[in-house]
Amino acid sequence: MKATIATLAGDGIGPEVMAEALALLSAMGSKYGHEFVTNEALIGGIAIDETGDAFPAETQRICEQSDAILLAAVGGYKWSDPSAKVRPEQGLLKMRKHFNLFANLRPVKAYPALSQNVPLRPDLLENVDMLFVRELTGGLYFGERKEMGDGDDAYDTMYYSRPEVERVAHVAFRAAQGRRKKLTSVDKANVLASMRLWRKTVTQVHEDYGDVELEHVLVDACTMHMLMRPASFDVILAENMFGDILSDEASVFAGSLGMLPSASLGEGRFGLYEPVHGSAPDIAGQGKANPVGMFLSVAMLLRYSLALEEEALAIERAVDAVLADGARTGDIARKGEPILSTKEFAQAVIAKL
Ligand code: NAD
Repeated sequence: MKATIATLAGDGIGPEVMAEALALLSAMGSKYGHEFVTNEALIGGIAIDETGDAFPAETQRICEQSDAILLAAVGGYKWSDPSAKVRPEQGLLKMRKHFNLFANLRPVKAYPALSQNVPLRPDLLENVDMLFVRELTGGLYFGERKEMGDGDDAYDTMYYSRPEVERVAHVAFRAAQGRRKKLTSVDKANVLASMRLWRKTVTQVHEDYGDVELEHVLVDACTMHMLMRPASFDVILAENMFGDILSDEASVFAGSLGMLPSASLGEGRFGLYEPVHGSAPDIAGQGKANPVGMFLSVAMLLRYSLALEEEALAIERAVDAVLADGARTGDIARKGEPILSTKEFAQAVIAKL
């Protein structure tokens, strides 16, 4: 197949992990007979420096002409003044909004080879493999908010419409059908009206997915269940802020922030794929970045935007295999273990393919 991918390296360790993602795509293309055309574009701090805009019009055009967007990371000390008019993160928000990317998918699994890096009993980590589907363009982060003139009171609003909940619920149920067929919907229906609408709507959407088991869990209880019985979760569907908090809690299971990928999807196959981590300015330019989050984001791109399931699985298995062989970047190495550079680790994964 032929596919066009916009590649947005961004700042800090972004260009380092993106370089390896391009090598991975090239290797996958040769092995499986696909042509992946990659078009570079600016985003974040580097885009502000060169154009004054965190998501320039030219980048938008390149993204619009692509089948998917692959992004590394944005931000850094240079652009960190919170009162600045233009900030790198605005590029991400503009892009999500422009492409109406309402479903954020974050898979988290525990790697047996890294169980020592996780502050939980190893027996609890066995078979931990969950997928968060976080609603990304509504809920508390997008509702009406106001700081009053006197500065002594303020409010935020959690608002959802039925179609907003329905569309993200369909994404979650379909994802569950392709996995272990279990969906946990997280809400706070005992207190919040918007969350009662959420629960009612998810229950109705469930009627189309008789093969998927549905459980409703209150968000406060969910934080506890995730630590007590993490292996029992498959797909977890949550409101914007709840999903943000819960997926960060769960990221601990993977052993390092550098291990986690994500996808942001809208209607249709188009999507934005990026590792969960930021630009890591503390290690930028030193070849220390873990490329796994980026590689697994490439796997998600192949799976969700290009329907190349076999190729996606091949990348995931190659990552598992090099970790089992003992390959480690600094963030996942224990004392005394040899440390590979970003490029060495990436080459080991590509060689496994
Ligand atoms: P961060 O994710 O960049 O780094 C947190 C810690 O994790 C650091 O110690 C870093 O060295 C380490 N780390 C992150 N990714 C790693 C990797 N691949 N390999 C090894 N270690 C890794 O978060 P931060 O320090 O809070 O933010 C740094 C900058 O990134 C800020 O400007 C922030 O706004 C931005 N940021 C961007 C995104 C994004 O692009 N989506 C997400 C989060 C933060």
